[in-house]
Amino acid sequence: MEASATPAGAAARGAALDRALTTLEEQPRYGMNLDEWISRAIDLEAAADRLGRADLALRAQLVRADIVGRRGDVISSGRICRHVHRWAVEHGDQRLLALSHLRLSPYFGQLGDYPTALEHALGANRATSALGGAASAYLRWRCAMALADALADVGDLDGARARYAEAARVSVILGDIRARIRVFNNLAYTEFQAGGTDAAQEAVERLLRLAADHELTLDYNTLDTVASVQLAAGRYADAIATLQPALDDAFAAAYEEAGSRAQGLVTLCQVYRLAGDLTSAQDAIDRCRALCESRGLSGVAVDVRREQAEIWAAAGRFAEALDEYKLFHAAAMALNSGERDARAQTLHAMYEADEARRAGARARELSLRDPLTGLFNRRFVDAELPVLLAQAIETRTPLSVALIDLDHFKRINDTCSHEAGDRVLRMVADLLTGVAGLAREAFAARLGGEEFLLVLPGAAAGSAFAWAERLREAVRGHDWAPVTGDLPVTASIGVATVAPDRDTQEALLRQADVHLYAAKEAGRDRTADGSATMPARQAS
Ligand code: GH3
Ligand code: MG
Ligand code: MG
Repeated sequence: MEASATPAGAAARGAALDRALTTLEEQPRYGMNLDEWISRAIDLEAAADRLGRADLALRAQLVRADIVGRRGDVISSGRICRHVHRWAVEHGDQRLLALSHLRLSPYFGQLGDYPTALEHALGANRATSALGGAASAYLRWRCAMALADALADVGDLDGARARYAEAARVSVILGDIRARIRVFNNLAYTEFQAGGTDAAQEAVERLLRLAADHELTLDYNTLDTVASVQLAAGRYADAIATLQPALDDAFAAAYEEAGSRAQGLVTLCQVYRLAGDLTSAQDAIDRCRALCESRGLSGVAVDVRREQAEIWAAAGRFAEALDEYKLFHAAAMALNSGERDARAQTLHAMYEADEARRAGARARELSLRDPLTGLFNRRFVDAELPVLLAQAIETRTPLSVALIDLDHFKRINDTCSHEAGDRVLRMVADLLTGVAGLAREAFAARLGGEEFLLVLPGAAAGSAFAWAERLREAVRGHDWAPVTGDLPVTASIGVATVAPDRDTQEALLRQADVHLYAAKEAGRDRTADGSATMPARQAS
């Protein structure tokens, strides 16, 4: 029998697939053969489909989107990420939310929509926090980087620096020197863009030292940053030396990131031109143009036209410079409108995803509510109380519950009407909500019939008793005459507090029930918490 034919087999295969995906997601990008990479992603996606695991298939799709983007097709990459993100939102899948937010943030950054890029970076951080211990150091590193980059783009330099510092710390935990180099690369670029030449130089020095100490070759993206900082300092010879690998096809074959190689060639062309070596500048830009054509790098192709116009102008060939400049201008406009279309498409998809999320949240919310009173129902208690209990025990804070049962409720139904009984239940629910609203983080639920539960996180036995008494007084003090005529409405309440020997929902509610029974036995309209002297009923 095939392993997946049994539930245990399917679970084991899902876990193995999850591990394989994590490896693919967290594998160093440097020196990776993109064809090999994409075919592994496709294999894992097919395996996930066979297992019927949509979440895992979508994670594989995100890896594919990453590669598609690295090859220069940013728009297709964005389309895949949006599709995955939408599913993650609809299903509340925190891992996929984190991973898709992490891809969408730089996507919007590239489209120039920095506020949306920041929103996604924040979303990634939120989802990763929700994963808690299930979030790897690598994921936390990516989150800190995405937030730093996004903050830098919206001009919050201090925020960006703090996040880069955090990313640097996490990269130490990761033990990944390349991740550490990336931090200093992005920090250098940020400082450079903000005009902080000294700070940019310092970050560049640090990354160069790291690379030298660990005998690592820098990728094109980093080389481009280093060269740009050197160029700004007027160190032309250094910048030219830094960017030589961009001319090296063998190096490029080992590190297949066409987009950043092309970007590096544009910078190299600039340096040569400013240093007065127009022949080498022309050579660099010719190679860059060929690369853009073969890889469909439309964004960098626009820069190529601008650089070509600059070369003509530097050579005094102004007619050619003007023609080329016109072509540059047209290409830049076309690129902008392409980006605008992509952005409009994207915003529409985000809007739809948001609507779907709202509808989903509403449906979930409704299934956790009692239709008569609008209070939370037992299903909600079963989902929420164990979490609150675990938290209380972990943080050594108290938590109490109050079990409330209306007294002689049957009489109200029988004497007045079932409809009057319903009105009483709704009114009691309102009184409960009022009390729950006053206590911090408390909530009220209807467990069924005329039985309610008040959950009081942070409340020790004494204060829980006081809250219960407050509620009891509110019920008996309410003017019921319009609903029940002469019949009074009162409640009996049993209180229980978490203790080391009473730390499960079942044990806690059982204890509250014992106390409730004692309150009924002692004559109703009172609160019992197991203390020897039960307070007497107040005279009415
Ligand atoms: P005690 O003081 O011992 O709790 O007496 P009681 O009459 O309140 O207790 P009992 O459990 O005998 O009766 C509860 C009644 O609540 C019986 C049932 O008809 C009524 N009830 C349960 N659900 C609803 C509801 O949704 N609406 C109305 N109107 N009555 C309900
Ligand atoms: Mg009852
Ligand atoms: Mg009752």
